[in-house]
Amino acid sequence: MKICIVGGGTAGWMAANLFAKQWADKNIEITLLESPEVGIVGVGEGSTPTLKRFFQMLDIAESEWMPQCNATYKVNIRFAGWSPQSGIASYSHPFISQLDTFTQRALFVNCRTRRLGLATHTNPEDFLINGVLAQHNAGPLTPKNFPFRMEYGYHFDSHLLGEFLATLAKKRGVVHKQAKVVTVTKQANGDIASLITSEQQELAADWFVDCSGFASVLMQQHLGVKFNSYKDNLFNDSAVVMPSKIDAVIPVETKATAIKNGWCWKIPLTNRYGNGYVYSSDFINAEQAELEFRQHLNAVDDPQACRHLKMKVGSLEAHWQNNCIALGLSQGFIEPLEATALHLVQICTEMFMDKFAAGGFSAQYQADYNLAAKERFERVRDYIVAHYKLNTRDDSDYWRENRDNTHLSDSLLALLDVWYRRDDLEKEIQRQNIAGHFDTISWHCLLAGYGAFPPLAAKQPGQGDLYAEQNIQSFLAGCALNFSSHQNNLNQLKV
Ligand SMILES: Cc1cc2nc3c(=O)[nH]c(=O)nc-3n(C[C@H](O)[C@H](O)[C@H](O)COP(=O)(O)OP(=O)(O)OC[C@H]3O[C@@H](n4cnc5c(N)ncnc54)[C@H](O)[C@@H]3O)c2cc1C
Repeated sequence: MKICIVGGGTAGWMAANLFAKQWADKNIEITLLESPEVGIVGVGEGSTPTLKRFFQMLDIAESEWMPQCNATYKVNIRFAGWSPQSGIASYSHPFISQLDTFTQRALFVNCRTRRLGLATHTNPEDFLINGVLAQHNAGPLTPKNFPFRMEYGYHFDSHLLGEFLATLAKKRGVVHKQAKVVTVTKQANGDIASLITSEQQELAADWFVDCSGFASVLMQQHLGVKFNSYKDNLFNDSAVVMPSKIDAVIPVETKATAIKNGWCWKIPLTNRYGNGYVYSSDFINAEQAELEFRQHLNAVDDPQACRHLKMKVGSLEAHWQNNCIALGLSQGFIEPLEATALHLVQICTEMFMDKFAAGGFSAQYQADYNLAAKERFERVRDYIVAHYKLNTRDDSDYWRENRDNTHLSDSLLALLDVWYRRDDLEKEIQRQNIAGHFDTISWHCLLAGYGAFPPLAAKQPGQGDLYAEQNIQSFLAGCALNFSSHQNNLNQLKV
């Protein structure tokens, strides 16, 4: 069987590696075709913990890939300036680890008590081990006798990661070709038969994987799959990007700071920060965005040029069509706020591999896959939409219109309704069966982090704060003694 992947960005090479590893004992020829003329998007430098599993699946140690990709550890995303009227300057969404099972219930209970108007401690980062590590800039690596599994992600240079994955895939037998696909030939049933390149070469295969980025060459351009825009929910369609000098102490978290017409990411690598400003061109033009971005970075006079990008936010109506699946930006994109794009690439690749193999390498489970991929995209979208909906900024129409936005899915409406009705959010998440996307704890981080609570009641009982009553501060401070500095973790990679 021949599988042809179109696209050599992170998505294409991730898929190529997973296929090559998983199906090493099958008689499957994998070719990856990419166009150097088109190039890659070259952003996307923060991950979720699924990338840790990705490298584990490939049997690649952190010491092998991280130094080569200027990578750092990531335990947390810090959101600054999203909800000034609640009095919260910033909050954290830490990656959830096994240890958090001991403390997360106290956050749930405290939030519910706080929703009834009673004063309790509800700062999410204080309840979760990665939140505490981020406060001390400690790395997530544990001594061998630490009995809990830690979850964490990474920051990395996307070009270097692409090169690393390309070398690895080629070593594992993936054939690499460079050419631009200009058209395709089809069989009578609409399946793709072959790709025709700009040099009039023809490449036939049984299955095709569209990893061609926003161009979505096979799925949208040649198979005519509909693209559902999320513009009603998510206004951002542009980004401006510029690196800056890294600090002497390298942070162990991504920072996402809301500014006048969007938000800025700050991603620490070992040799630089990657920075970007994500905004909507309906509210400011590229020139204004660059100025606001430079002001935010204190780089108005910096001679370095910025890079401007357009983003297509939404997803395909079908993620598997005929004998083709889409992965990465060609499949959809939900803007970079929670760094979920590569996470979705991996989840969808794994889901596809399971279903494809379960169906004897046929399209038997195509409909199931399409349903599951659609659900993935939409539930991740809802979590991102909630960040905008709940904002309490008042410095621009952009933020006010985001807050007033009524285009919310039924799922998101139900979650917010339960929260404001002071009902049980965990039960609602179970009812909707959506814990596999963003779990109850992540929703609590978001809602408590925005200070989405009623005013305090006049009379306070002065008890019922589980953070204090269960000594969570000292419990987590004790746990944190097992960890060393982020820099120490990075140094360990070199020996
Ligand atoms: C502003 C921004 C910030 C982001 N931040 C994050 C983040 O923090 N975390 C995260 O996980 N993700 C992030 N992403 C998403 C991330 O960048 C992508 O998911 C990732 O880079 C994978 O991209 P890709 O491989 O799908 O597409 P690309 O990198 O665009 O690759 C497309 C490939 O297709 C090839 N190609 C295109 N047309 C043809 C053709 N006709 N013939 C042959 N080859 C062709 C190109 O040559 C290229 O090799 C961000 C995206 C944007 C826009």
